[in-house]
Amino acid sequence: MGHPYSFEEIPGVTWIPVPEPFISVDASRCTGCGDCVRVCLGDVFRLRNEKAEVASLDRCMECAACLFICEAGAIHFSWPARGSGYRSEWG
Ligand code: SF4
Ligand code: SF4
Repeated sequence: MGHPYSFEEIPGVTWIPVPEPFISVDASRCTGCGDCVRVCLGDVFRLRNEKAEVASLDRCMECAACLFICEAGAIHFSWPARGSGYRSEWG
């Protein structure tokens, strides 16, 4: 038996698709430690020139593990106002 809802059908949640990425990396803060690459189960980040960058958000689960593991404070979330994400009726 499949999941009872698709992501678009969850009661009380409005999905807000917009084209801009909702996760960004501040290169001036990034130390290139690679923690975000290792923690992300969605394979979102890659290192290039010793800096992290968002390779693809297609598999991002919005778990925020990257946000909390980055000791440099280089990862920024900006959803849903400037990125795709969700807004619930519960705040
Ligand atoms: S965890 Fe933070 S500092 Fe480390 S590579 Fe990722 S963005 Fe850069
Ligand atoms: S929120 Fe989770 S899935 Fe998305 S990029 Fe960060 S660690 Fe990966």
